[in-house]
Amino acid sequence: MDDPKTPEWAALIRDVPDFPSPGIMFKDIVPLLADAHGLAAMVSALGAPWRDAGIQAVAGAESRGFILGAALARELEAGFVPLRKPGKLPGALLEEAYALEYGSDRLQIQADALASGTRVLLVDDVLATGGTLAAAARLLQRQGAQLVGAAVLVELMELRGRERWTAAAPLRALLRA
Ligand code: AMP
Repeated sequence: MDDPKTPEWAALIRDVPDFPSPGIMFKDIVPLLADAHGLAAMVSALGAPWRDAGIQAVAGAESRGFILGAALARELEAGFVPLRKPGKLPGALLEEAYALEYGSDRLQIQADALASGTRVLLVDDVLATGGTLAAAARLLQRQGAQLVGAAVLVELMELRGRERWTAAAPLRALLRA
């Protein structure tokens, strides 16, 4: 955690063992999203380190990155750009494949979603193996955006996803589990 004091809203993230498959401890953020005070406090905390970073757009990966990303974009008075699963976005696309804690997938971005040099902050709920965030960073960089950093709610330390974050931009987690 960047802040050594655990915020009250952290208790609203529910641990669900063996979901979606045996051995996975799933971090369920729905109770946190459903709580008006918790949601506001979490989004504010997520944005705080980046408030003066000149963020022009927030990018989030399907689908929990959309929820946090759109809220964070409003918090930082920035735009929002979705990174989507194949088959969802029209037009010219860039694509990256990546491995997940449970499976593998691909992410796409519209080639014209961001003007070259746009200052972008990536966001996701959970950093697990780090594959999603690393693929998202590659997509944004290939697209010509300026990656300013990444913000995640929870970093699962055992999975050492941070080691896959090779971008020359800070990766900040609000909570460690
Ligand atoms: P990874 O690419 O392994 O870092 O996985 C991160 C993505 O998968 C995030 O978008 C999370 O929403 C989801 N995810 C992976 N592991 C978990 C987990 N244990 N609990 C909740 N979400 C997870």
